[in-house]
Amino acid sequence: MSDVRSLTGILRDSRNIVAFTGAGVSTESGIPDFRSPGGIWTRYDPREFTFDRFVESAEVREKSWQMRREFFDLLPEPNPGHRALAALEGAGRMMGVITQNIDGLHQQAGSSNVVEIHGTARDVQCIGTAPGHDEPDGCGFTESHQWALDRVDAGESDPRCPHCGGLIKSATISFGQALAPDVMDAAADLAARCDTMLSIGSSLQVYPAAGIPLRAKEAGAVLVIINDEETPLDDVADLVIRGKAGETLEPAVATLRSAES
Ligand code: NAD
Repeated sequence: MSDVRSLTGILRDSRNIVAFTGAGVSTESGIPDFRSPGGIWTRYDPREFTFDRFVESAEVREKSWQMRREFFDLLPEPNPGHRALAALEGAGRMMGVITQNIDGLHQQAGSSNVVEIHGTARDVQCIGTAPGHDEPDGCGFTESHQWALDRVDAGESDPRCPHCGGLIKSATISFGQALAPDVMDAAADLAARCDTMLSIGSSLQVYPAAGIPLRAKEAGAVLVIINDEETPLDDVADLVIRGKAGETLEPAVATLRSAES
């Protein structure tokens, strides 16, 4: 049986699907993953932008706004993979999406229950005037990323909070920062309750995030891995599809939906 037919069969038998997505679900939208040659990550190494370095250095903050500008200059739009997952929600089969991505494309495609374990680059937040080690300490001010980029374009290389004068940072989890416990709890809850877990476009190498699909499998869910290279969880998965996320999900969901209508 072809991979797409096998996937369609699993989706048809599922009522409570959860997707766990990584950078690979967005490469078909033109956002490179860290491994892709020639992309923006060859000019910026996100590992240099640790939380503490961001706090300590105006130069690092300036560079990080340039990186955000280039990220959104890619004008990313949802691709068939994001839209297929939103269509599964429309069909009443999807409990939610847990994503490592910061691009907001699942929501833009129409998914409503999205747990962003690494935060979002679509918003910025105040992190305070003197935050502690790896720990934001802001006044609660948040705005869209465009608000910050408009200030950068107007000549403020290092925009400050209009309420308390604190540092402004994108609402992402930087290297060195702990994942938010309430967000990880929400992800663990979805993983424990789903009947099918789709792991899509993730190398499944970075923990604790990669533990989420494993938790679903251990709780009794069917585990499907869609990735264009091997992952460490391939051996425990019920179905492994070595292919492109959008090219795999779109026909499977379309077949399912046409059989239902
Ligand atoms: P990752 O560890 O999530 O790995 C991405 C995987 O996707 C790789 O194994 C790659 O072979 C595979 N892949 C690439 N394109 C694919 C496609 N079209 N279909 C199926 N598989 C595909 O990602 P990473 O690049 O190592 O990033 C690490 C962290 O940085 C993660 O948190 C990631 O989500 C984040 N990041 C986010 C974005 C974004 O928001 N779009 C972009 C780059 C990195």
